[in-house]
Amino acid sequence: MEELSVNTGSRTGFTDITAKVRAVVRDSGVEQGVCLIHVPHTTAAVTINENADPAVQEDILKELNKVIPFQDGYAHMEGNSAAHVKSSIVGCSCSIPIDGGDLALGTWQGVFFCEFDGPRSRKVWVTCR
Ligand code: ZN
Repeated sequence: MEELSVNTGSRTGFTDITAKVRAVVRDSGVEQGVCLIHVPHTTAAVTINENADPAVQEDILKELNKVIPFQDGYAHMEGNSAAHVKSSIVGCSCSIPIDGGDLALGTWQGVFFCEFDGPRSRKVWVTCR
């Protein structure tokens, strides 16, 4: 398993980690298999979506922030329940096929670290088998 570092710059935001994950896959030597990307945090997530137009990420964040408001009478005393809810909805792991020693992503797909309670220093664990 390899550990990537992601420093997020705002309270919520998407960071394109495709190149970093791709480098781990290439260095792993796995030709055919699966790349598992896991975010070991409860207020962050990982997702795959369009990386051609940054407006797509803006729209996803805007809608998540609309559906899950920062304040909504939450019981959790830490004050970051919205981030926990977003983390569970988006998910803390995803897997991508490895083909020919490279990530098998669609033409418009990228891998995004999703920050919901930043800014923070975060980790991403990448396993290739
Ligand atoms: Zn919390």
